[in-house]
Amino acid sequence: MSDCLFCRIVEREIPSTVVAESEDLLAFRDIDPKAPTHVLVIPKAHYANAVELATADPALAGNLLAMAGQIAEAEGVAADGYRLLFNTGKNGGQEVFHVHLHLFGGRPLGPMLA
Ligand code: 5GP
Repeated sequence: MSDCLFCRIVEREIPSTVVAESEDLLAFRDIDPKAPTHVLVIPKAHYANAVELATADPALAGNLLAMAGQIAEAEGVAADGYRLLFNTGKNGGQEVFHVHLHLFGGRPLGPMLA
């Protein structure tokens, strides 16, 4: 059994609310949402952070961004705008070291570092 939380979500060993899935990607709702829409989009394969993913598999990194855009449309937040965020490393606020793209939407999000 993996000791990576998001690998375990991919394996369905830990439940999550899935909003989109492809062969290589999974998107699910954050357990502690910071906005009306707060979805995490991850590759099923384990990469520690966004740069590691993009370096190893640029096409998959692009597909991950594209899936976020499709979810934003499906959630009804695309027209008013939303935020995509990769926390990277300890000082970047990353707590789960399996790359995940945060999609926040559904309210004005304010300045970046507020
Ligand atoms: P980070 O700080 O690493 O960028 O973000 C990790 C995110 O994962 C946090 O927003 C946190 O709420 C979310 N999270 C942590 N544990 C779980 C879990 O078990 N299930 C889900 N759906 N989200 C989680």
